[in-house]
Amino acid sequence: MIYKRSSALFAEAECVIPGGVNSPVRAFKGVGGTPIFVKEAKGAYLYDEDGHKLIDYINSWGPMILGHAYEPVVKAVIEKAKKGTSFGMPTEIETQIAELAVSMVPNIDKIRFVNSGTEACMSAVRLARGFTGKDKIIKFAGCYHGHSDSFLIQAGSGASTFGVPNSPGVTKGTAKDTLLATYNNIESVKALIEDNQEEIACIIIEPVAGNMGCIPPKDNFLQKLRDLCDAHNILLIFDEVMTGFRLARGGAQELFNIKADIVCFGKVIGGGLPVGAFAARNEIMDYLAPSGPVYQAGTLSGNPLAMAAGLAMLTELNNEVEIFKRLEEKTAYLHKGIAKVLSNNAVVNTINRMGSMISVHFAKGDVVDFDSSAKGNNDTFKKFFHGMLQRGVYIAPSAFETWFITDALTYADLDDTIAVVNEVVKTL
Ligand code: PMP
Repeated sequence: MIYKRSSALFAEAECVIPGGVNSPVRAFKGVGGTPIFVKEAKGAYLYDEDGHKLIDYINSWGPMILGHAYEPVVKAVIEKAKKGTSFGMPTEIETQIAELAVSMVPNIDKIRFVNSGTEACMSAVRLARGFTGKDKIIKFAGCYHGHSDSFLIQAGSGASTFGVPNSPGVTKGTAKDTLLATYNNIESVKALIEDNQEEIACIIIEPVAGNMGCIPPKDNFLQKLRDLCDAHNILLIFDEVMTGFRLARGGAQELFNIKADIVCFGKVIGGGLPVGAFAARNEIMDYLAPSGPVYQAGTLSGNPLAMAAGLAMLTELNNEVEIFKRLEEKTAYLHKGIAKVLSNNAVVNTINRMGSMISVHFAKGDVVDFDSSAKGNNDTFKKFFHGMLQRGVYIAPSAFETWFITDALTYADLDDTIAVVNEVVKTL
C-alpha cells in the first residue's frame, strides 16, 4: 500500500505539532514508518487519507466497543449539540448517566465525571490521600494510569514504547511517593507495605493490564491485594479505564467478584468523546468538594455532548446483555485462529487474552509482568505490525498495547484477519 497523502500530512503536522501528533503512541515511533492519517471510520473499519480500508483492532484505544460512528451515539451527540455545547451549569443528563453508571457497576454509590482517564486516576489518588491522610501510593511497573506526575514512574504504554518510563519533569519529591511493585507478584507488594508502615494511602492497579500488552491477573492476585489493603487500612483503586464497561457490564469488579474502594473510568464511558470518571461508596465520595475538603474541578466536566455520547453508549451496553458474551466469543475465535497459524508456522509466541482484550507477544514463556512483556518488544513484532498494515489490518503500533475487539467485527472480518496473519508469518 502507498501512503503518499498520509506522509505529506504527517510532514506538515510535524512543523506545528511536536512529533506531528497530539499523543505519542500515534507516531509509530516504536515500529518505525510514518503514521496513517485517518479520514473517517464506520463500524469495524477505518478509511485512511490515501483511500485504503483497514480492519481496526485499536478502536480509538478502547472506546469504540460497538464500532465507529455507532448510530445511537452519533444521533445523541448531534441532537444535543443543537441545544448548546457547554454551559458550566448543572444539567439533567449528568444525573441520568450517573444513575445508570451506578446501577451497572458494583460497589459504587456516587460518580464524578471528568474529561480523561488521566484526570480520573489523578483525582482518585488525591481523594485516597485526602481520605486516608497518608501520602504514598503503590503502582505496578508497566501499568499506565495517564500522564499525571505521580504515575510516570515505570509507566507502560507509550512511556515504555519510547523508553521514557520515568519522565524528566517529574520532581524527585513526587517520585519518592510512588512505590513500585511487580504485577502478579504479591511478595513485592508485601515488602513495600512492610517498609512503609502507616504511610501508604492506596494501591492503584489495572485489574487486567493492557498497557504492557494484555496481562491478566493470576493466582488470585487481586483478592490477595484486597486482603492486604483491608489488613493495612489502604484503599484499593481499580483503574478500569480499559476494563470498565468492557470485560463485563460492571467491569473487572464484576468479572472477578472483587470490591475496589475507588474505580476509575475512561474510554467506553464516553462513547468516543473525552470523558473520564471516578466512583466510590458514599463515605469516600463525600470527601470530595463541594461536600468535603478534597478539591477537584473542571470547566468542561459533565459536558453535554460528552454526557450524551456516554449515556447513549452505556444505555446500549445495559440493554444488550448478550454483548459481553458475543465479544468474548469473537475474541476467543480470533485467539484460536491466530494461535493455530502461529503454531503451524513455528513462530515463537504467547497470546494473552481476557474478554475482548488480547495481545500477541512474540516471545517464549508466560507473560505475567513488565519484564516478561518487554521480551516481546522486538523486531518480529515490528515486522508483524507492518505486514498486517500492508494487508489492511490495523493493530496497535507497539508491543506494549492490547488489541481491543469491537462488536462491529463480523466472523468474516475475523477470518480475513486470520488469513492475513497466515500470510504475514511467512515473511517474519
Ligand atoms: N488508565 C489506563 C488503564 C489507560 O489505559 C489510560 C489510557 N490509555 C489512562 C488511564 C489514561 O487515559 P487518558 O488517555 O484518557 O488520559
